[in-house]
Amino acid sequence: MIVRIRVPSVGAFIGLALVLSASPAAADPAPAAAAPRPNVLIVTLDTLRADRLGAYGSKRGLTPHLDGFAARSAVFTRAFAQATTTLPSHADILLGLAPPAHGVHDNLHFVVRPEFVTLAEHLAGHGYATGAFIGGFPLVSYFGLDQGFSTYDDAFAPAASPGRPADVQSGERRAGEVWSSAKEWLAGRASPWFLWIHFYDAHEPYDPPEPYKTRFRAVPYDGEVAYADAVFGEVLREIADRGLEGSTLVVCVADHGESLGEHDETSHGFVAYNPALWVPCLIHVPGLAPRVVARNVSHLDLYPTICDALGLEPPARLQGRSLLPLLRGRDLPDRPIYFESLAPYYNMGWAPLRGLIDGSTKFIDSPRPEVYDLGRDFGETDDRSGDGAVPALRAKLAKMDRALAFPESAGAERAADRAAIEKLKSLGYVAGRPGPRRTEFRPEDAVAALLPFHNRAAEALALHKAGKTPEAIALLREVLSARKNVGAAYLNLAAIFRDQGRLPAAVAVLQTGLEAMPENYDLYFQRLNDLFEAGEFEAVLRDFDPQAFPQTGFDPVIWNCVGLAQWKAGRTDEALASLARALEIDGAFALTYHNRGTVRLGLFQRTRQPDERSLAVADFRRAVALDPGYGAAYFSLGVAYLQGNEPGPAVDNLDRALALDPALDEAHFFLGSAHLRMGHRALACEHLTKYRATRTYERLPPAAKKAVEDLLAGCPPRK
Ligand SMILES: [Zn+2]
Repeated sequence: MIVRIRVPSVGAFIGLALVLSASPAAADPAPAAAAPRPNVLIVTLDTLRADRLGAYGSKRGLTPHLDGFAARSAVFTRAFAQATTTLPSHADILLGLAPPAHGVHDNLHFVVRPEFVTLAEHLAGHGYATGAFIGGFPLVSYFGLDQGFSTYDDAFAPAASPGRPADVQSGERRAGEVWSSAKEWLAGRASPWFLWIHFYDAHEPYDPPEPYKTRFRAVPYDGEVAYADAVFGEVLREIADRGLEGSTLVVCVADHGESLGEHDETSHGFVAYNPALWVPCLIHVPGLAPRVVARNVSHLDLYPTICDALGLEPPARLQGRSLLPLLRGRDLPDRPIYFESLAPYYNMGWAPLRGLIDGSTKFIDSPRPEVYDLGRDFGETDDRSGDGAVPALRAKLAKMDRALAFPESAGAERAADRAAIEKLKSLGYVAGRPGPRRTEFRPEDAVAALLPFHNRAAEALALHKAGKTPEAIALLREVLSARKNVGAAYLNLAAIFRDQGRLPAAVAVLQTGLEAMPENYDLYFQRLNDLFEAGEFEAVLRDFDPQAFPQTGFDPVIWNCVGLAQWKAGRTDEALASLARALEIDGAFALTYHNRGTVRLGLFQRTRQPDERSLAVADFRRAVALDPGYGAAYFSLGVAYLQGNEPGPAVDNLDRALALDPALDEAHFFLGSAHLRMGHRALACEHLTKYRATRTYERLPPAAKKAVEDLLAGCPPRK
């Protein structure tokens, strides 16, 4: 690949204050304290392919502001991510540690441990004001990267919109919104400050705002890139307008790239070829001349480089190295770079994928190893693994992995959270809970071997959604006849059968999947769910084994399902215990509060024990407090009040339920009853008349219909 850089005019960098010439890293021994330390701005552009920048050879004209910035910066033409997803890559950048050290290997199953000294903590310790402004869910403070930031702004679109449950908040916000918050933080801020801005726009789903949406209708990814570039331009303009250009160190880097269909990968997070691993990396140190640097560098090098440029001693144990010599025009030898892509391993039980880049050699280790010569084959089309180099490269990688690993890194793993799984799925990630970890893998378990089949399984679901269900089913059958270990193919085929109302067929497919992949928790879980939906409650209870999968211990959803099956099977005490277990695991699970309230209300109807009704009311109230958009829970709360002879609160909650979800037909019946009890005859008649017009009414047994007719008898005749 030919990299073209515009040669900047001398005028572009004349007049920049040489603030850094007094830093200890420079030859000049003057104390660093004499000059105020520069500000530090890191802009991470999520999912940005290097080859979309003009500064990296693109002719698409998407990035005038990044290119203008590149013209006065050091442009690293061989910068690589060491991970292929957002959280691990940002941990690499902000901790200066590789994944084997910090232990964060995907976006779901890990948190950043507190014992590491983040760049924010380090700079805060040297008097920096620290602020972070986040654009995407994988970086919310919950995952631990907020350490050291006095402001960590990860607030996304408010949840309180009608009909939208509280925990399905937007997983991202646009660059413009991120920047407007950051700009407020910057207003009147005394130097030195450290500001990290994260733009998530280029990440799926590709949906740029206008005018980019129209202009890039054919390639919406490019539209997102152009939009992010425009906002980046606003950031630079603000720095310049504040007169801070000469005193602000700026790093602009992508966390990983995007494959856009190359090497069978549509987005990122599976394989580790260069479209996903090669990142744009621009560093501007005030006072240093722009240049192009072709050495291999990685995310780990940013932290020590910033420390070096500021004249600060880096914390112990950082794993990268300062690039300041390269920024000053000197050379450094290449160092091997470790990388990994382990999300498929942690989410789906596929073979682990690790590798290294050493000079121009790239080694991708898996049960199907690959070797490329990046010097002449940067596009990785000519696999040289047959040349005999694999054993030595494998030994080198294993040694590297051991040298990078910290003993405490295993502590970064924790149980995947229900809400996080839902959110990541909404952002297009495969977010699963694989079964017991396998240790033996065959070549057909390699990510590169499984990905094309996984893609076809996803394609089939899209066909089904587009109304081409027979084609979708045929495609999935084809995938499954070629490969027995594609979990998504079983899950998607079962989903189609479920949509068609063919629950026994769905259960049978999942059963076949489990026989081929007994370690796959998603198949096990979905099968129990479908058995429940099919009304096979005893089968759910017979097949549920709390010891079979460790995931059961931290999955509230399966306990919710089992609890309902126990209830339906008449085992109320066991049901209450299972639902309590679900709530122990996840105390913010509105659905389970609603279910437990329903069980308790059923108990009240049977036993007439007033305590049971009060407990049901408490559960329903908890459900609506957790999720103010939960119409069905307001409905249940209204019914529970009515059964306690409290028609006033019953009406309030039933009205609310109907406002949130007009499809809750039966609310009209209960509203009619409540209004009758309050003497509101006209309102009662109105609701009962509406109820008589619903489909739910149509399906009532004759005796129940008669009860409604009797209530309606006293109403004025319909017009
Ligand atoms: Zn990312």
